[in-house]
Amino acid sequence: MQILLVEDDLSLADGLRTALKRQGFSVNHVATGKAALQAIRAEQPEIIILDLGLPDMDGLEVLRQLRAADGKSLVMVLTARDATTDKVTGLDRGADDYLGKPFDMTELLARLRALERRVTAVQTADITIGAVTLDILRHKACTGGHDIDLPRREFMLLKALMEHPGHIHSRQSLESKLYGWGEELASNSIEVHIHHLRKKLPEDFIKTVRGVGYTVRDA
Ligand code: CA
Repeated sequence: MQILLVEDDLSLADGLRTALKRQGFSVNHVATGKAALQAIRAEQPEIIILDLGLPDMDGLEVLRQLRAADGKSLVMVLTARDATTDKVTGLDRGADDYLGKPFDMTELLARLRALERRVTAVQTADITIGAVTLDILRHKACTGGHDIDLPRREFMLLKALMEHPGHIHSRQSLESKLYGWGEELASNSIEVHIHHLRKKLPEDFIKTVRGVGYTVRDA
């Protein structure tokens, strides 16, 4: 699940990023409204955590422009300002949830899990390619009558591959789906996830396209 965190309070942003990563979310952070709109245009995140008090523009304006551009991201608004007015305006302009500052980290995480369920509810259909079925809701793969539990990043990786059968995914594009910007990752981390997935899936299900990337194909 990709989250864009829009927050100009850098110490709060740091704390949030650490906590969210620990939960396995992939988090990118920007500190201004302009940078947020740019990031959203470049790659639409699934969830946006949006502070309303930004240095260069009102967070509600960011929300308005995002919705005007038909952005499908779910938006969680954060604000320290007068809660009721902002809540009504935020929800009017298409925010999906709302949290007043200061908030409890456990509260934020619970709300994010609810948003995450909404994201996955939109794509509840299982994906079947060859002998493998990916259960989107339960984060499991099923093959040969067996359920295979997948850690979050292995699930995200397999989902990226199975959503576009036949498409060759470069290591770089897979990394951008699994990790936030500038997140420390070992140079071989995609290979490591692929290695683990291959041990769980039928032989040759994930194919390496030498020098290019990985793909799965409808048999
Ligand atoms: Ca702020």
